[in-house]
Amino acid sequence: MKIAVVTAPGAVELRDEPRPELGADDVLVEVGACGLCTMERRLFAGEKQMYPVAPGHEAAGHIVEVGAAVAGLPGVPEVGDRVSVDLLTRCGACDACRRGHTALCKRPQGDRLHDGTVSVGAGLAEFVRVPAKQAWAVGDAPMAHASMGEPVACVAHSLRLSGLHAWDRVAIIGAGFMGRLHLALSRVAGASPIGLVDVSDQRLQEARDAGAAWTATPDTAVATGGKQDVVFVTAGTPGTVELALGLCDDGGTVVLYGAFPKDLFASVAPDAIHHHEHSIVGVYSQEPEDWRTAAGLIRSGAIAADLDALVTGTYSLADVGDAFALADSNPVFRVLVGPGV
Ligand SMILES: [Zn+2]
Ligand SMILES: [Zn+2]
Repeated sequence: MKIAVVTAPGAVELRDEPRPELGADDVLVEVGACGLCTMERRLFAGEKQMYPVAPGHEAAGHIVEVGAAVAGLPGVPEVGDRVSVDLLTRCGACDACRRGHTALCKRPQGDRLHDGTVSVGAGLAEFVRVPAKQAWAVGDAPMAHASMGEPVACVAHSLRLSGLHAWDRVAIIGAGFMGRLHLALSRVAGASPIGLVDVSDQRLQEARDAGAAWTATPDTAVATGGKQDVVFVTAGTPGTVELALGLCDDGGTVVLYGAFPKDLFASVAPDAIHHHEHSIVGVYSQEPEDWRTAAGLIRSGAIAADLDALVTGTYSLADVGDAFALADSNPVFRVLVGPGV
């Protein structure tokens, strides 16, 4: 089969790789679509240097084979089913996994191709193998939607840890791909009103078109949106933590979703957090129950229009280099690769 390998900054090639061999607890998936996420963009841009590497962790496709030990079990997808696949390593053995925090699994993520090339997802390929427990059926949802299972699961995780209730007032800082998914899932969860904050007029216009009740730039956010029950920070830039706390009402929660520069510190007044009962919650990646939520959401069609609006471009696997180039441009939401889009 063919698989995409990033060999240097700006360089992607298609290599021949044996089709993955199925273990008794695995399923084999013929990939229909794989999205290019921040990780893939950073590898291509040279911001994260580990070459050669086979990336692609946002994959979806059809089941073509089911391992003997899991075939026929209730809940296990069957041959022909359309699935979104969770390509994270969740060892189950490490301390984080034992405490239920499998998003923080301590076993190194990834695997190796037959020639020793490091793989992180390896979803930019014709086939991908995954433990059956990490394949999630999405009914007859479009393949493009199925390929967004991983980011939707990350945002479901964010909402779950936020403790969001129906009719909560929500502000989302950052109106990029992840901010827009927070808008979609908060709406489905019954939040209202929902506002978005960004520095880009174009992004704010797109957010209003997608149903945001209000939008603002950072310096006008408090005056425009007022106090909030939950504030999601999806843009990890200097000043956003302080802004989020400024938007947070008594008893409210600030959720730190996006990555921040490692050397960034925020100035926070502990006494204000005490007196206003503010909660600051860090969220990272996703866990199996978030995948269950994501697969259900995608299967239901409840966020179909939201997901359609977030596809910036689609490419065949043969044109994966062009796909990476578009993903590395700005502004961009998701670029999808595969025969199903
Ligand atoms: Zn991702
Ligand atoms: Zn683990």
